[in-house]
Amino acid sequence: MNRENSVLCSPIREELEEIVAQGLWRSLREVEAVEGAKIRVDGKWLVTLASNSYLGLHLDSRVIAAAQEAAFTFGTGAGSSRLVGGTFSLHAQLEQELARFKQAEAAIVFPTGYMANLGIVTTLVGPGDLVLGDHLNHASLVDACRLSKATFRVYPHKEVDRLKEALRLRRRRYRRVLIVTEGLFSMEGDIAPLPDLVEVAREYDAFLLVDDAHATGVLGKTGRGTLEYFGISPEGILQMGTFSKALGSLGGFLAGPQEMVHLIQNRARSFIYTTALPPSCAAASLTALRILQQEPDLRVCLWENIQQWISGLKGLGWDLIAQESPIVSIRVGLNDEAMALSKALFEWGVYAPGIRPPTVAAGTARIRTSITSFHTKEDLEQALRAFSEVIPHGVRT
Ligand code: PMP
Repeated sequence: MNRENSVLCSPIREELEEIVAQGLWRSLREVEAVEGAKIRVDGKWLVTLASNSYLGLHLDSRVIAAAQEAAFTFGTGAGSSRLVGGTFSLHAQLEQELARFKQAEAAIVFPTGYMANLGIVTTLVGPGDLVLGDHLNHASLVDACRLSKATFRVYPHKEVDRLKEALRLRRRRYRRVLIVTEGLFSMEGDIAPLPDLVEVAREYDAFLLVDDAHATGVLGKTGRGTLEYFGISPEGILQMGTFSKALGSLGGFLAGPQEMVHLIQNRARSFIYTTALPPSCAAASLTALRILQQEPDLRVCLWENIQQWISGLKGLGWDLIAQESPIVSIRVGLNDEAMALSKALFEWGVYAPGIRPPTVAAGTARIRTSITSFHTKEDLEQALRAFSEVIPHGVRT
């Protein structure tokens, strides 16, 4: 390495060494093949517990055919941004059907959920405004709040009294206030206390943004999400969601008041200055959205699998963070232990990722499992066998 290179590289190398020293090194694992809930990694077939495609719609032949047809008809990419020729009839149709599904006045689609969160929050609040977010909100929400330049405060996870206290003390000083929460928390698998949050938002004249990335298609009698789960009217609430989970594709959206959708179209930089979602993804999401409404059995199957999984893990004595959704995280604590456990499970034919900081708070490393409707009973039994075998290496309570 010449001198110039070493000068350039040494701070980067030091940072990398620090990551290794902290036990936080991340690397990519390649999936070579997929068959139902089985994936092949390093030549080895494993039951995956890492997919958020909760209803298996990414493998549905009708969804795949819709994506293929859209690619043949419109091409593989949208070719430009939404406002500059990249809006296809498929985008418009998706937005209409999505608004209907979420019982909102209107909806608007972004290329990813991450960009949807950036766009929604930064459009709504700025300097002179206040954003209050749950301590365990997803990184995209945290980044959105920081980027907005509004005053940003977090309240302890699901502690509505603390949120209320912050509003009582601060509300008068700010123009707009936005409360931000996940509906179904992506790493804990627990559900936000939405009825209380709605009440507080009304009392303090605040906007409420619910990130329903994981709840869409999963929670509520007809899969509409966390609002339906609690029987809350969507009027005035900002419902964010993604197509990347139960809808089996890619993309993000806001469903909410028409005026908010217009404002995003005119102001949200992550909507305006990026190429539109590819038509194949819009078509896949549209078909998946229709299937999830027409085939409630998918959700029945999902919830049966969740019950089997939770009771199996409990029977083995594992310490579960929450037991109310397809996201079932197993408390471990130390980073190295979580990774060792994940590795041991891999050896036993199960892909279950260890989750460490900064994805979760320091000292709360865990194994995150997500259950889907396309896991067979045998898949889950095989996975439970693995969890019983790794006990000697593991951290069972
Ligand atoms: N919000 C939550 C709660 C998420 O879990 C995720 C993705 N993991 C996102 C937003 C971002 O969605 P996308 O993957 O579509 O960018």
